[in-house]
Amino acid sequence: MSDLTSNLAHLQADLADLDLISDATQLSKLSQDYAHFSPILQPIVADKRADIAIRPTCEADVIRIAAACYRHDIPLTIRGAGTGNYGQCVPFEGGLVMDMSAMTAIEIDSQSGIAIVEPGAKMAAIDRIAKPQGYELRMAPSTYRTATIGGFISGGSCGMGSINHGMLSDPGNILGLRLITCEAQPRILELSGTDLAGAIHAYGTTGIITQLQLPLTPAIDWSELIICFDHFMDAARFGQAIADDPNITKKLITVLAWPIPSYFTPLQAVLPPGKAAVLLMVDEPSIAPLQPWIEQHNGQITDQKTAAQTTGTMLLEYTWNHTTLHARSSDPTLTYLQTIFPRDPDLKLVEEMYQTYGTEVIMHLEFLRRGDITVPGALQLVRFTTADRLTHIIQHHEQQGAFIPNPHAYTVEDGGSKQIDPAKVALKRQADPKGLLNPGKLRGWKGE
Ligand SMILES: Cc1cc2nc3c(=O)[nH]c(=O)nc-3n(C[C@H](O)[C@H](O)[C@H](O)COP(=O)(O)OP(=O)(O)OC[C@H]3O[C@@H](n4cnc5c(N)ncnc54)[C@H](O)[C@@H]3O)c2cc1C
Repeated sequence: MSDLTSNLAHLQADLADLDLISDATQLSKLSQDYAHFSPILQPIVADKRADIAIRPTCEADVIRIAAACYRHDIPLTIRGAGTGNYGQCVPFEGGLVMDMSAMTAIEIDSQSGIAIVEPGAKMAAIDRIAKPQGYELRMAPSTYRTATIGGFISGGSCGMGSINHGMLSDPGNILGLRLITCEAQPRILELSGTDLAGAIHAYGTTGIITQLQLPLTPAIDWSELIICFDHFMDAARFGQAIADDPNITKKLITVLAWPIPSYFTPLQAVLPPGKAAVLLMVDEPSIAPLQPWIEQHNGQITDQKTAAQTTGTMLLEYTWNHTTLHARSSDPTLTYLQTIFPRDPDLKLVEEMYQTYGTEVIMHLEFLRRGDITVPGALQLVRFTTADRLTHIIQHHEQQGAFIPNPHAYTVEDGGSKQIDPAKVALKRQADPKGLLNPGKLRGWKGE
């Protein structure tokens, strides 16, 4: 019997009273995420499998599991709903996958507007409880209905609401968290303030989050609108104007070049052929002040739903990276890029890239706040040909001053700032001395 086989047998014996999963089909599912959006990542992750999986129901279970992995030298990869795009929860070295989806407690303090949640809670479920108390999440990805809050904090970055609150990692968007270490006797670290940097967007390499404290924002009944334009740059400049107008209360500004709207089958009646589209979430009093901007940019409202006619998030699943999901169901050769364009009210670089790449890199903007200003983020669709061509497109954007968090890379650093974050390496050193947590994903750890 190999060391790993015998270690796994010991691990299973130690945790036999918990919800252990060894069925091959389930293990395959629990070992994958949405890295198949990338033709570069797909072959890297395709054959990676956990040896076993487990589903804890409370923090005490998590502590026992972390201790057992440490004792028996078993790699431990944490998983929320598995909707990440970069193989974040794919166990590169096998071992144990810990599925957090059964830890779903949600408490809202209606005095302070703070949510205290377990990591497996779905974001839509948090809002369902918060809204009757007058609050909602500051931001959420377009996988709001399916993804877990722990997975978003550990693997996501921004989404609806980012036009007001910026990126998840911006100061104040998370107040605190409880993190379990992977040691002989796992500790509970309570992190807040600047210490959070080691744990946010760390892909579960620096500890296991068992609880989060999130500041909420006052709830608003959102209306949803679709506005169409003959020319993409009119739509883009309209988006920037709305982003900058303080009289318009908004949560989502999505700008889509044709043919992206053609991929949204259920919306075809309100998306005229050949037109660029803007998808908006605004509050009802903001609809009147939108009109002059619509006229100035030659737009036309093709669909409008008041808060009473919509759940408020009916358009969300056509925005952010859901656009790629819809496009790939029509044409699986499409992949995507992520970009943050520099601040420029005229959007000159957006226009240059739109004109340079035509239908090879199809423009999709999502406006977000960076400190005091708003900027266009982008999740462009890319008609993939070769890895070299993709690298050329990325480098060309970077040379022109755009920032690319590369969605075709699997390490924390390469998919983000490209820099090794000393806070994450320092936290890993104390929380995971054997390097068992999600091995291979933190480049700064032992020079990986
Ligand atoms: C169609 C589509 C649209 C998307 N849109 C967006 C978007 O708008 N914005 C965005 O930011 N992302 C987006 N994503 C990516 C992803 O859906 C989100 O980041 C989501 O929040 C991840 O949550 P999850 O529960 O699926 O996490 P998982 O994919 O399961 O995990 C993500 C990472 O978090 C780690 N992790 C999970 N739970 C814990 C825990 N308790 N402790 C420590 N580490 C943990 C995992 O190890 C992994 O590294 C999209 C993906 C798809 C497929």
